[in-house]
Amino acid sequence: MEECIFCKISKGEINVEKIYENKEFFSIPDANPVGEGHSLIISKEHFETTLDIPNKVGPELLDCIKQTAKKLMEKYNSEGFNITNNNFEAAGQIVKHVHFHMLPRKKGDGKRGIFLG
Ligand code: AMP
Ligand code: ZN
Repeated sequence: MEECIFCKISKGEINVEKIYENKEFFSIPDANPVGEGHSLIISKEHFETTLDIPNKVGPELLDCIKQTAKKLMEKYNSEGFNITNNNFEAAGQIVKHVHFHMLPRKKGDGKRGIFLG
């Protein structure tokens, strides 16, 4: 079986500049951004969906979301941000290693509340 792309990034087998990382999660720019600053928060360990994330790593997930949002908002001078998370094929999940999309937002940027089609 071909190894998971996000596991390869997590293990450092593919070199990607991280936005932020802690013991359990890291964030990177999305390779196909739907807007300026579109990024992904990814678990270091392989979990398929949000349902597989152990409750005990909840604080690290929240920390990675908050720190990534602060860095992106500063970098892109944005006034807000969206987070979305696709779980299972029916909901549009393509990469079967849990990740949260983050998009920095500005007033009048033409996007709505839910940004991924
Ligand atoms: P989804 O599974 O539908 O939530 O989306 C997977 C996301 O991962 C897409 O937005 C892709 O552009 C992104 N993606 C896939 N491979 C990479 C990669 N090697 N580096 C960064 N982003 C990626
Ligand atoms: Zn994986």
